[in-house]
Amino acid sequence: MALKERSPETPKTSPKNPRVAVRSIDTYAAQCDKCLKWRVIPTEEEYEEIRSKMEENPYVCDRKPGVSCDDPADIEYNATRTWVIDRPGVPKTPEGFKRSLVLRRDFSKMDAYYITPTGKKLRTRNEIAAFIEANPKYKDVNLSAFNFTSPKVMEDTIPEDAVRKVPSSANGNKKKALKDSA
Ligand SMILES: [Zn+2]
Repeated sequence: MALKERSPETPKTSPKNPRVAVRSIDTYAAQCDKCLKWRVIPTEEEYEEIRSKMEENPYVCDRKPGVSCDDPADIEYNATRTWVIDRPGVPKTPEGFKRSLVLRRDFSKMDAYYITPTGKKLRTRNEIAAFIEANPKYKDVNLSAFNFTSPKVMEDTIPEDAVRKVPSSANGNKKKALKDSA
């Protein structure tokens, strides 16, 4: 099961800074438990559903309409994209909330946070608890459904010239990167 980051080769990338990629999740994919091929999952909601039940109900190609293990993979795991792999046991995001992941510019890790139905960004379980307490409308929302475990950034898919290796003289590029991802 994986999320992958937008490929550095996407048109959004500036030709002057070919490695300035958007640092959020672009495509969702799940790996078949039988043939190990990767299948693209069309929506975040469907992906979260699969992920939340991964242990008891491993993903297989047949779950995709009209697809079987005999068909070629939708997508290959390789370094043309940066891949991040979810850890098991992340629950489905409660209705109305949105779970968001942002890759650090040095590719070291992804940061997880939640956006409330009112558009507030919450970064810890304490902040979630405070939000629910202040908004009794959401009192039935299960606190344990919020999980800040971030997926593992796959070392072998990090671009070789990732920003972490750029010396301080490249500050101009860094500013550009911030602007592009804003
Ligand atoms: Zn399969």
